[in-house]
Amino acid sequence: MSHFHAPGTPVAVLTTQPLDRALDYRAPAGGIEDGAYVEVPLGPRKVLGVVWGKAAGDWPVEKLRPILRILPVPPMSDAFRDFTERAAAYTLTSLSAMLRLGLRAPGLGEAPGKRRVYALGTGEPDRATEARTRVIAALRERPGDVFALSELADMASVSTGVVKGLVKSGAVLEQDTPRDADYPTLDPDRAGKALAEDQMVAASALRASVRSDTYGTTLLKGVTGSGKTEVYLEAVAEALAGGLQALVLLPEIALTGEFLHRVEARFGARPAEWHSGVTQAERRRCWSKVATGQARLVVGARSSLFLPFQNLGLIVVDEEHDTSYKQEDGVLYSARDMAVLRASCEAAQVVLATATPSLESWANAELGKYKRLDLTSRFGEAVLPKLSTIDMRDEKVPGGRWISPTLKQAIEARIIAGEQSLIFLNRRGYAPVTLCRACGQQVACHQCDARMVEHRFQKRLMCHQCGETAPMPPACPSCGVEGKLAAVGPGVERMAEEVATLFPEARVAILSSDLFGSARSLKAKVEEIAQGGADIIVGTQLVAKGHNFPKLTLVGVIDADLGLQGSDLRAAERTFQLMRQVSGRAGRADKPGVALLQTYQPEHPVIRAILSGDEEAFLREEADQRRAAGVPPYGRMAGIVISDPDGAVAFDVGNALARNTQPLDQVGAEVFGPAPAPIARIRGRHRVRLLVKAPRQAPIQPALAEWVARITLPRSTRLSIDIDPQSFL
Ligand code: ADP
Ligand code: ZN
Repeated sequence: MSHFHAPGTPVAVLTTQPLDRALDYRAPAGGIEDGAYVEVPLGPRKVLGVVWGKAAGDWPVEKLRPILRILPVPPMSDAFRDFTERAAAYTLTSLSAMLRLGLRAPGLGEAPGKRRVYALGTGEPDRATEARTRVIAALRERPGDVFALSELADMASVSTGVVKGLVKSGAVLEQDTPRDADYPTLDPDRAGKALAEDQMVAASALRASVRSDTYGTTLLKGVTGSGKTEVYLEAVAEALAGGLQALVLLPEIALTGEFLHRVEARFGARPAEWHSGVTQAERRRCWSKVATGQARLVVGARSSLFLPFQNLGLIVVDEEHDTSYKQEDGVLYSARDMAVLRASCEAAQVVLATATPSLESWANAELGKYKRLDLTSRFGEAVLPKLSTIDMRDEKVPGGRWISPTLKQAIEARIIAGEQSLIFLNRRGYAPVTLCRACGQQVACHQCDARMVEHRFQKRLMCHQCGETAPMPPACPSCGVEGKLAAVGPGVERMAEEVATLFPEARVAILSSDLFGSARSLKAKVEEIAQGGADIIVGTQLVAKGHNFPKLTLVGVIDADLGLQGSDLRAAERTFQLMRQVSGRAGRADKPGVALLQTYQPEHPVIRAILSGDEEAFLREEADQRRAAGVPPYGRMAGIVISDPDGAVAFDVGNALARNTQPLDQVGAEVFGPAPAPIARIRGRHRVRLLVKAPRQAPIQPALAEWVARITLPRSTRLSIDIDPQSFL
């Protein structure tokens, strides 16, 4: 319970510094509340922290240093502190690292008027250099936005001096940030769309849940276009009407544009936004207005789960099955699971919306832990796309080409009808492999156990593991022979080339994450396509994520077998979800859609399940197999990765752990490995994996913590623990 500390008494302060415990300080004159955001001395520095309850008391009060300053923001709520502690314990993350996620507001310690920001001016630069032109271009790309000095310099890849130089001529304006402006009021009483029968039933159930003022999670399952968004906006309306805050998580920033329009249409104004595409000034505004409770609805990426809500009533996780909800570096967490945890701390409701539930959520609904609501048909006249396979064993496709005659014909018909087609291939770049025809070697990354992938538009090779790029070499790096490097296999860029050859008259658009410098430019492209600005879209999984292209009536999947090859425990589930999602892009409005899946194994059970569209049967079957194997969601797992520049050192640590499993034995957990990770080297570090499997109810986190604490790591070695791993690379 929240506590008030009298002046001069000792209090605990948790800082963002990696100390792994709260330190004791003296309460300032006037006293201080638990949860207050403060500035404290640490060594020679001043650092940010939060008052975290009673002092440990192992230092005499007179020796304690005083809290220097209380920041002018409302204190962190009990519920939020509770969540921070539980999330840290669940993910085996230090409390300070967890707190850092909650303090990601730029300039939190400064008064708003003190921050200088930079915006596009009306003057002309007195002298145009390349660097100066980049600054102006960066500002023009985001009209209306203002930036901190270093932020703008980073965006344009220039030094801060270049920006300053542009201020003199008036080409760039220097201003003091105004006090953070309030967000416009959202009106929950504006009339929404008239709901269909099943939508109405689902909406009133969600409204009742939000009104109950208790924790609960609901799986809202409905095919693409069934109106899930309309329905959960009703739950948002209920939260707003009840004076509560609401958070909507989207898996992809490019989706926020369309969503903001819908919020505006429904509630008459735009909500607060929180994601990497938002300026520092806006992030600061969002954080502080969420803290005061003035910002009532936030639309954001997974990190918005760590905003300082005062009275959170609802969290919506849209496309809850999406793998991008798992944070794969730094603090390893699943935003879906953390949403449920945060809601349970806040006595709030969670809505998990999807057309293709994750097996975890589906199983929780089966067990009765989650409620479940279904929308069974597409809204209005729209019907689900017809799915069928193209058996590639019967198709004549020339070497170096991947589009079958059957698919080609279907695309032609769409062009004639003035409709859009989508060619889907889940592979970025031009070709996955670059091979030397003289020596047979593949071009590999020098610091990773991975191939370099050709990105022809950027005229570079790129390592998808470490991001290293290099110009396309004129000669083979292995044998030095010139002119023999050849692209093997297709990536989206190569598919776009094939499409352009087959349909020279058509307007082709490529959607792949690496081709867009900023979230904003991707958003703009998506909107342009939605308006009909392309005849054929070639895309990676980026297009599977809920974009609404009204003119799209054909989806052609180049390689439906691609995801089935791995040994990943979720390979079948992922392929099923991805194929259903991408097919769902076709025929959203009044025109019926078709999805054609090119495959070499049309009789594969997963491919057959995709075609039949019987999700429940697929999920039951998949659940039976996982239950029999004792794997998630019917068992618990943790992935341990040990990395070191020296492979032998990493293996020694792995072996020591594998020999010393007593804390795990006690909770019935088993250890597998060590083994080299599938990607055995990244950024020059050799990687060794262990896998821990335990029964569903086992208290695995404390056991894991004790297990690894027994080993002293060499200085060069890193060890990470991933609870409920999604990736096994
Ligand atoms: P989902 O989120 O399930 O994919 P949406 O909520 O985006 O579905 O709905 C699909 C389309 O149908 C949207 O354009 C939406 O505005 C429209 N729609 C859904 N329900 C209704 C309704 N009751 N009245 C009018 N339009 C609706
Ligand atoms: Zn690499």
